[in-house]
Amino acid sequence: MNFIAKIREDKPFIFNITNEVASNFAANGLIAIGASPAMSHTPREAQDYGAMADAVVLNLGTLTEDRGEAMLKAGKAANEKGVPVILDPIAVGGTVFRTEIINDILATVKLAAIRANAGEIAVLAGALEKAKGPDSMIEKNDPEIAKAVAKKYDTVVISTGETDVITDGMRTALCKNGHEMLQNITASGCLLSSIIGPFVSVADDKFQAGVYAVASYGIAAELAMKKAMGPGTFILALLDELYFLTDEKVKRYKQIQER
Ligand code: ATP
Ligand code: MG
Ligand code: MG
Repeated sequence: MNFIAKIREDKPFIFNITNEVASNFAANGLIAIGASPAMSHTPREAQDYGAMADAVVLNLGTLTEDRGEAMLKAGKAANEKGVPVILDPIAVGGTVFRTEIINDILATVKLAAIRANAGEIAVLAGALEKAKGPDSMIEKNDPEIAKAVAKKYDTVVISTGETDVITDGMRTALCKNGHEMLQNITASGCLLSSIIGPFVSVADDKFQAGVYAVASYGIAAELAMKKAMGPGTFILALLDELYFLTDEKVKRYKQIQER
């Protein structure tokens, strides 16, 4: 499927409850890929937005009581309408508050995908005690751990690191696209979580949508680094390359290994 063309044609409406650090970058990235974003975190409109969106992204950064309440409301409203929900469980296990909210979401909201770094995925699997902060605590991105989480929550898991793992528990793909400069800017994972929204919104096969989203994002980062001088220009170039991305480029540059 030509995901990029489809996204640009459909302009899916992506409702994000995300953090203060990522908000502007994620909104710009979503516009660049061809989606129509809304960012809001008040519980009073979470239900309406959750029900009208084409995809909902719940990101646990800069968590507040309001954001937590809004996420549960938006997630449940989205579930009722069959709208796909993506979870980015930032620093799960790191504090009691966020871990409780994440567990509430996992227990009450059916997720289309979970996108997190390999350390956070390991915490969800019960293979690692806790994430200390937003950065991944482990080096190895183990497909078996991602598969266990996918099965546990009956969802697609996108576990990121130097090599990204995408799995629905049955099918697994490894993606080598991307660039280490993504580690020198803030919210690169948050933007990826938001970007997964439009991809899963236009396809029934959430695994294939996840694979295509991860490859697309990684390729945009690679192309951006051909023009960037450092982290500052990379941020701008990444937005440019998301804007100029095509299905032809994704097919030409993708480094996907399905297994
Ligand atoms: P954030 O800082 O936004 O919370 P995160 O820790 O949740 O990010 P990461 O695992 O850092 O998420 O992934 C963000 C992006 O960086 C992904 O596209 C991923 O492929 C890429 N990435 C992560 N680690 C590396 C690495 N060592 N080399 C190259 N790319 C990487
Ligand atoms: Mg990281
Ligand atoms: Mg993160």
